[in-house]
Amino acid sequence: MKEFTENVVADVQGLATKRVNENVSEKEQVVNKKVKCCLCGKEIEDWQTNNPFPISANGRCCSDCNSKIVIPLRLRLMRFDTKKED
Ligand SMILES: [Zn+2]
Repeated sequence: MKEFTENVVADVQGLATKRVNENVSEKEQVVNKKVKCCLCGKEIEDWQTNNPFPISANGRCCSDCNSKIVIPLRLRLMRFDTKKED
């Protein structure tokens, strides 16, 4: 019984280690993927990028450009749309 328990513990630990390793390699793949911001050209990690629409339909932009350019423009367009409907 002691042996059985030890084997199960070893299996569980093995699985846990395997899972952690898989997660790490997945994370590394994402982290290593660098993209250039289509607005300022700054190199950013893929997971940090934002959709630059409506400024650009293609590419990705950094969070700086997103908060300083893209979001204000979206808000302006939203207001403009609302005004038009009135
Ligand atoms: Zn940018």
